[in-house]
Amino acid sequence: MAINLELPKKFDSTVERTHLAAEHIFRPISRKYDKAEHEYPVELDELAKLAKQNRGAEKSADEGAGGDAPSKNGANMRGLLSALEMSWGDVGLLLSIPGQGLGNAAIAAVANPEQLEKFSDVWAAMAITEPSFGSDSAAVSTTATRDGDDYLINGEKIFVTSGSRADHVVVWATLDKSLGRAAIKSFVVPMDTEGVTVVRLEKKLGIKASDTAVIRFENARVPAENLLGSPEIDTKKAFGGVMQTFDNTRPVVAAMAIGLGRAALEELRRMLHEAGHEIDYDRPAAAQHATVAEFIRLESDWEASWLHTLRAAWMADNKQPNSTEASMSKAKAGRTVTDITNKAVEVGATAGFSETSLLEKWARDSKILDIFEGTQQIQQLIIARRVLGKSSADLK
Ligand SMILES: Cc1cc2nc3c(=O)[nH]c(=O)nc-3n(C[C@H](O)[C@H](O)[C@H](O)COP(=O)(O)OP(=O)(O)OC[C@H]3O[C@@H](n4cnc5c(N)ncnc54)[C@H](O)[C@@H]3O)c2cc1C
Repeated sequence: MAINLELPKKFDSTVERTHLAAEHIFRPISRKYDKAEHEYPVELDELAKLAKQNRGAEKSADEGAGGDAPSKNGANMRGLLSALEMSWGDVGLLLSIPGQGLGNAAIAAVANPEQLEKFSDVWAAMAITEPSFGSDSAAVSTTATRDGDDYLINGEKIFVTSGSRADHVVVWATLDKSLGRAAIKSFVVPMDTEGVTVVRLEKKLGIKASDTAVIRFENARVPAENLLGSPEIDTKKAFGGVMQTFDNTRPVVAAMAIGLGRAALEELRRMLHEAGHEIDYDRPAAAQHATVAEFIRLESDWEASWLHTLRAAWMADNKQPNSTEASMSKAKAGRTVTDITNKAVEVGATAGFSETSLLEKWARDSKILDIFEGTQQIQQLIIARRVLGKSSADLK
């Protein structure tokens, strides 16, 4: 059976629109906000309004997608393509667009219909990481204590992307630490809730346009209906509820890596051309200039990442369990983008290392895509567990 790897036509307008924004809004201000860490990119306000207007039309196109057909492409694929094109422009700016936080993806993945309606217009950051842990998300120590019709949230979250700009934050907290992973639930907390404080902003290696905050919760009161998913502590289902978010967000982070990787490959191709090295796909790589051979290797890795990521999003749209594929896409794309951007600096040499091009910035920006939403090593651990049929207790 022939495999058609073309993207459905209905996504053409999304790809075109987001690419134009990346080219004409992001690229011209990319260096400006790399230099002005913590300054809010006001240029994004207009873009956020346009994105909101388009969301309604796209949602109905995706809901109608496929009908009873055995295979469909919907919201996950569209979100992924949009993140890819925007990241071609600038990853830090993409992460700063109002209304499109990682918490929004969590709400989309696990909210019930009433919550989807209630939180449809919010900008939500995502707060999992704490001073005492990063990778081991089962170690959550922030607490949520029932108090009448509300929960009281207490704890500290660090490295929260959009934590100072978003108007809401999805917080992972435990209902009862003694019951382990099953008691960890996520709560949508408005940032203007009494007891919620942005303590400080981090200074970072890359994605400087994006704010990264430490947030403290002291008896922050939220209505019980802001708990996403079921309030029951089902020790048999363990971590299922909150972890489901990652099945949707990891392919999106992979797509960000693919967008950034494509930008670096395009720049590298241009530099090779200027240096008189043309890429000839009809000749063996080893028979060409060493830098061309390197380019061909990087590009084939990039294509493998792209296909992994499309598959993970397609599975999510078709309601197929995709945890393994989501981790595979992120592991492959995260590693590939750091490889591509660092090699591009190496091959570009003086032009790669200086600020005359964006290559050095992209090399700094790319590393985060191999860290947040689960590091390279954690993705490999998840894949190994799934492939070998081992539990998290068996393989740590
Ligand atoms: C810019 C930025 C933005 C972020 N945004 C957010 C956000 O919005 N929300 C949020 O909640 N968090 C966010 N994070 C936090 C991020 O998710 C964590 O940094 C990440 O999960 C790793 O945790 P850690 O830094 O504590 O590293 P650790 O967990 O301490 O890991 C350190 C190293 O050990 C490796 N390692 C750990 N365990 C194992 C193991 N079992 N086997 C093999 N290797 C292992 C890791 O891969 C890593 O290389 C952000 C981080 C950064 C830098």
